[in-house]
Amino acid sequence: MEMKTLIVGLDGLEYDNVVKWRLEGLLQKVFGKHDVSMIEKLYTPLVWSAFLTGKNPREFGYTMEYIRQQRLQYRDKGYSPQLRRIFLLRKRVLPKRSLGLRKLAIKLGLYKIVDINLKEDVKKETFISKLEDEGYGVYSEEFPSFNEEYENELYFRSYLKDLINKEFSYRLKEVEKRWKIVLNRWKRAINAIPDHDLVVFYSPFPDFAHHVLFRTQEIVYVKKYYIQLENLPFLKELKNIATLIVSDHGFIHEKHTHSNHGFWSLNIDLPLKPKTILDFYKIVLRLVRT
Ligand SMILES: [Zn+2]
Repeated sequence: MEMKTLIVGLDGLEYDNVVKWRLEGLLQKVFGKHDVSMIEKLYTPLVWSAFLTGKNPREFGYTMEYIRQQRLQYRDKGYSPQLRRIFLLRKRVLPKRSLGLRKLAIKLGLYKIVDINLKEDVKKETFISKLEDEGYGVYSEEFPSFNEEYENELYFRSYLKDLINKEFSYRLKEVEKRWKIVLNRWKRAINAIPDHDLVVFYSPFPDFAHHVLFRTQEIVYVKKYYIQLENLPFLKELKNIATLIVSDHGFIHEKHTHSNHGFWSLNIDLPLKPKTILDFYKIVLRLVRT
């Protein structure tokens, strides 16, 4: 029976924390640190695009400037003419973003989402597209730079600045709300295993918890999410599946900034260990093809 492959992408999971807290479930059989310092900026979509393609995103023009331009182009322009009028009116009357009109419009399909994903021709270079072309069944949902939509771009990334000025209990509640989304996404990924050769799961945690629960003492709450990730339902009980747990960068809590190395671990032996984020492309192709 062929072995399936599961990728558990955990944004911002810090290698040093996993080792220090001895999170055996995350450490698996083989594990290590990988370098991401060659990426222009340790910005989540950029780093994951290197993971998916095995190339430095600069090579195909996927840069901070490109992302900035995409955002400018889409901001407030995605509405249909009628909705745009309402949007502009609301902005004049209620300058503070509060009604969630854009969120609602996206849900109703009336607003075109900011698309900061890779261009279609570059997407073809990812292991996801390569494997699909070869006839493998691949499941992936909301993966940064590939098919990220409403949830990550708006709910996990864009509102960060508004959140960090709030009091602790409010921030904790907001983090917990988003954790539930991650858990549901995980359940869908688990359910997809029987019908797919490769399942690519992505979690904006623990990065989101790191960013929002950033005060010195709040690290204990961040740790709680590391433990919950270690204990994702059924993760340890999965059989006959190669499980790659990987992060795009770590997080230095004291400095409230990303660290320039990521974490990886695998539940089976690996002939060649990844040294940088660019090495996973070949490893994943080999895992799925064998
Ligand atoms: Zn990240």
